[in-house]
Amino acid sequence: MSIAIIGAGLAGLACAARLREAGREVRLFDKGRAPGGRIGTKRLEVGDRTLRLDHGAQYFTARDPAFAALLEQTGAQHWPDAERFVPVPAMSALPRAMAEGLDIAQGRHVTALEPTAGGWLLHHLPAGLVRAQAPFPEMEPDVDGPFEAVAITAPAPQAALLLTPHAPQLTQMLDGVVYGPCWTWLAVFAERLDLPDTLRPNDGPIGWAARDASKPGREAAESWVVQATPAWSRAHLEDPAAAVAALLREALGAPLPLAEATQRWRYSLVEQALGQPCVWDGSRGLGLAGDFCLAGRAEAAFISGRALAEAMLY
Ligand SMILES: Cc1cc2nc3c(=O)[nH]c(=O)nc-3n(C[C@H](O)[C@H](O)[C@H](O)COP(=O)(O)OP(=O)(O)OC[C@H]3O[C@@H](n4cnc5c(N)ncnc54)[C@H](O)[C@@H]3O)c2cc1C
Repeated sequence: MSIAIIGAGLAGLACAARLREAGREVRLFDKGRAPGGRIGTKRLEVGDRTLRLDHGAQYFTARDPAFAALLEQTGAQHWPDAERFVPVPAMSALPRAMAEGLDIAQGRHVTALEPTAGGWLLHHLPAGLVRAQAPFPEMEPDVDGPFEAVAITAPAPQAALLLTPHAPQLTQMLDGVVYGPCWTWLAVFAERLDLPDTLRPNDGPIGWAARDASKPGREAAESWVVQATPAWSRAHLEDPAAAVAALLREALGAPLPLAEATQRWRYSLVEQALGQPCVWDGSRGLGLAGDFCLAGRAEAAFISGRALAEAMLY
């Protein structure tokens, strides 16, 4: 019998890779259009060109030898210094490489787990139909399974929705996890801005801004990714996207762009983690992994996903 993994972000992909390496059959379900979760690339149409900008994680750090080896194997390059790495030609190249050969149902939003004598059944709907996190639409879901075990790698509040009916004590563990939000503005300009490739201002709305095209292997363009600080993003969380874009543009001191987009990350960087690599309840066949277990870094998600796989295999 196979194992189901909810979420094909770095934690889910790392968990799946380790389980498959150990000969286990694995199926992943992810509500996104492509694997990667918070490591993603957004398209911006500029005239007749389509540019891809890294709208989530900006770069990776790699202290864990297995993560460092993966970055090397997949051709990540140093940027903006020797301590940090970016995949080429976009951040999404890493999850795409990790997803190769895995059985992933993309665009499927898992709405419930159902215990049966034979294991867990997963209820899922096309992601486009599930607008709010809950309540889920009154529709007959598709059902897959039974699976001998389920690994949930969604961000903690989304994992809690699935866990609460079956394992309220696991949900309680997640109560202490805190994420900062992040409003992100992407923009392409006609002229080069008189700014360094990366900025981390000490005050004001901007936490980080980078000339996306200064990363290795990107298309030539004056493209920028501007991230607001968690405090500013919290204060402006429900503001209209256009107002946020205007304020971040003003903070950057930039002219009107040729093309722009915004992204509101409700769960961006983990501010308070669980403090353990993963959670595994062998008696129920339920596990949890993700950056929220350890720290708000892609590397932490990778370590957590592998730790859960090891716990499941033990
Ligand atoms: C704006 C921003 C900037 C960042 N910058 C950096 C950085 O520079 N360096 C760094 O190391 N890290 C950075 N991070 C953090 C990094 O992106 C995350 O730590 C990491 O990607 C988390 O991986 P994960 O697998 O734990 O979760 P996620 O990537 O969130 O993956 C979870 C997956 O679960 C899926 N999912 C959720 N609920 C369901 C459901 N019910 N059914 C089906 N699928 C579901 C989602 O679609 C998603 O694909 C940044 C994050 C953001 C948002």
